Amino acid sequence: MPSLERWVYAFGNGRADGSAAMRDILGGKGAGLAEMANLGLPVPPGFTISARLCLAYLETASFPDELSEEIDRHLKQLEQATKKRFGSADNPLLVSVRSGAAVSMPGMMETILNLGLNDATVQGLIAASHNPGFAYDSYRRFVQMYGDVVFELGKEPFAEVLEEAKRRCRVERDIDLPPGELEGLVREFKELIQARTGKTFPDDPREQLWGAVEAVFKSWRTRRAIDYRRVHGIPDGLGTAVNVVAMVYGNLGDDSGTGVAFTRDCRTGERRLNGDVLTNAQGEDVVSGARTPEPLSRLRGKLAPVHAGLERVAKKLERHFKDVQDIEFTFEHGKLHVLQTRRAQRTGAAAVRIAVEMVRERLITEDEAVQRVPPQDLDQLFHPTVDTRSKAVLVARGLPASPGAAIGEAVFDADEAESLARKGHNVILVRRETSPDDFHGMVAAGAILTARGGMTSHAAIVARGMGKTCVVGASEIEVDAEAGRFRANGRVVKRGQMITVDGTTGRVLLGAAKLVAPKSGEHYAKLMAWADARRRLRVRANADTPQDAKRARELGAEGIGLCRTEHMFFEGDRITAMREMIVAADETGRRHALAKLLPMQRHDFEGIFDVMSGYPVTIRLLDPPLHEFLPHTAPEIAALAKSLKIPTAALKRRVDSLVEANPMLGHRGCRLGITYPEITEMQARAIFEAACRVVARGRRITVEVMVPLVAHVEEFRRQATIVRRVAQDVFHAEGRAVPYLVGTMIELPRAALTADEIAREAEFFSFGTNDLTQTTLGVSRDDAGRFLPFYIEQGIIPVDPFQVLDQVGVGKLITMAVRLGRGARSDLKIGICGEHGGEARSVKFCHRAGLNYVSCSPYRVPTARLAAAQAALAEAGVVNRTRATV
Ligand code: ADP
Ligand code: MG
Ligand code: MG
Repeated sequence: MPSLERWVYAFGNGRADGSAAMRDILGGKGAGLAEMANLGLPVPPGFTISARLCLAYLETASFPDELSEEIDRHLKQLEQATKKRFGSADNPLLVSVRSGAAVSMPGMMETILNLGLNDATVQGLIAASHNPGFAYDSYRRFVQMYGDVVFELGKEPFAEVLEEAKRRCRVERDIDLPPGELEGLVREFKELIQARTGKTFPDDPREQLWGAVEAVFKSWRTRRAIDYRRVHGIPDGLGTAVNVVAMVYGNLGDDSGTGVAFTRDCRTGERRLNGDVLTNAQGEDVVSGARTPEPLSRLRGKLAPVHAGLERVAKKLERHFKDVQDIEFTFEHGKLHVLQTRRAQRTGAAAVRIAVEMVRERLITEDEAVQRVPPQDLDQLFHPTVDTRSKAVLVARGLPASPGAAIGEAVFDADEAESLARKGHNVILVRRETSPDDFHGMVAAGAILTARGGMTSHAAIVARGMGKTCVVGASEIEVDAEAGRFRANGRVVKRGQMITVDGTTGRVLLGAAKLVAPKSGEHYAKLMAWADARRRLRVRANADTPQDAKRARELGAEGIGLCRTEHMFFEGDRITAMREMIVAADETGRRHALAKLLPMQRHDFEGIFDVMSGYPVTIRLLDPPLHEFLPHTAPEIAALAKSLKIPTAALKRRVDSLVEANPMLGHRGCRLGITYPEITEMQARAIFEAACRVVARGRRITVEVMVPLVAHVEEFRRQATIVRRVAQDVFHAEGRAVPYLVGTMIELPRAALTADEIAREAEFFSFGTNDLTQTTLGVSRDDAGRFLPFYIEQGIIPVDPFQVLDQVGVGKLITMAVRLGRGARSDLKIGICGEHGGEARSVKFCHRAGLNYVSCSPYRVPTARLAAAQAALAEAGVVNRTRATV
């Protein structure tokens, strides 16, 4: 069907049909090439085939009629621009065929280089270069890549043949193979393809080109591409563009080469051009880890003009894109060509430093700095590091590719890493080098360790992107994946053995080293000050102990949004008093036991109030089913019976009587306080006595007593009556009053539906989104493991609703409850205390829903603060002025 849409866009020689604004059509790579050409940077000429064709092609397995003619026209242009001819036996034009979607997917789809070669054109290449070694090296690479990608044979069979040739010729590196041998390899590769697929390798360059274009489009649907999109939330409907680029040659000798440059240090954020380079190399040689690259600074010597050229390019690109760039380049006989630029992946620490320094350099504004750091990446700033005094044994050293420290069992296979991690094991994925096929294992592992590869290897890039600890190029280790072990410096580490990977220094240690909590620096403080000045949402922490509360304060929490009282009952001899209370035959017995618990709880509350002086503290009344506090095995029951001086059989009966078919929906939450009001009484007394004592010491405190699992306003009314009565008693006895509120959790749909009724009684709401998600979805979180991953994999739901708030469903209940609640009580204080309170997208939702605060685990407080600031900026319509980062 003819259409008016344009399918092909040219670039090169200081101009381009497209620009960075056209990512959707050109993909990130194509958009970057176009933009660089427009900027006058040395980009080899080429053209980009629209990503809009991708999905249509995948569905119909055909192209629009006019495409072929459009491509021919652009090939002709390219021939004119390069003064070479496609398919010529004198001076052949060779091209690379490269995928590139709107969102960068590193290492996901493979590039084919030197396309256009056959037995005739290779002669032309020899004639033009006077370098048969180079010509056959290019030819060999082309057939190998084409066989891997288009004929889908993978790398392995070709690598085997190549290794065999190297052994035969007694050389270490591919580039040292003599031309005759390379020529032989071309033949062998073609035969291999014929034998395995029954198809003849195409000699016609045009046929080669079409095959490659189709392969790029098809690769959009490979398992690893799909996995990557899933993990990073990239829509499947984007499709990839195809870039056809005139070849420039890095494999022409020692004054040629290829590399990767970062305009700043992506580990630390330091402003310093850095990267890896390999001379006499092509394409993926740098990142594949097959040869160990040299640091970019080495170019300063005999290839100084290349280095200087890169400095200029880096500066120009940073000024233009206002962000750190990851640049791929090749130099041919000392002449620099830029082949790609994109926004550089960076660690959380680097993101913070870069954002703050770019404000100082006047490249971006404070608003932009706040907007640009991904909130969840702040987590990484608080990654533990290995204690310098730790006595763990050093097994090997590598490159510190991604910081932090992780302890886990050494695992040598991605599938195994995934399955062990599912069972709750901490694992470290150890590989010679990683490839996109290892991706799922990398996601599952706590850290990644590779024997080969540089700072820009696949492992390093992917790990940094995920904020995962990673050490690469630990060349002392010899990985034997088959046998499930590695050797290093005379030691053997077997599968399942504990190791520590220190991504901050590059060390690999035997066993579990001692880790220390990290400290954040000056840049972090600056960024957070900017964020705090912009946000409206308050951020509190969930903390049950004075230590947690202290940590939360240090991380910027402005109060406690959830203090769970039950955790206090599990410690030491408290559990005995608790059990005595539970098994008591009557109220008198319960009160006797509760009297023992009172001073313990009061003491705990005092500690927390002390730390949180000046801030609100929300304390939740007893919530879990009582059965959770009881022993379950026969010997434990016998022992308890003895210490409580009751018959074992009677205790056994009591324990059994508390068993519930579905405890999550059973006798828990306020249902406990309703049936045993003396529990609520004791807890309220402990809270208010503690508050009075702390206030007597000169502290300021706001107490918020929270009733859990309310479904009906009457439940709340009865519990609140008890709390308020006890408060009056205590204040009377102590001769002082403390400001307090009584409120409720909204964690059942009925509570949300009747929020107006409840708000007439309750002074605050806190959405318990863990239970609210369970009860709204009718999914028990403990049992969800059997099907939820499948749901996500199948795309039935986009993400785990227990991690990222289900804004459409649960979110609707929240906004409704907010509206109903505030309608009944205009100054109703509303927060959220589920785990979603520390997840950036959910925090932004809470801002939009008009909540007063979010509360999350202490370590996620910085993430929540930054996300809240970003939400406020988005609401104010402050848009990121940064150009669409490529
Ligand atoms: P990826 O998507 O993995 O980044 P690219 O399309 O960037 O793949 O290709 C990988 C590498 O291949 C590039 O970094 C570059 O070194 C090399 N390459 C691609 N096109 C060309 C070209 N036209 N000339 C020389 N080298 C090229
Ligand atoms: Mg690649
Ligand atoms: Mg690239």
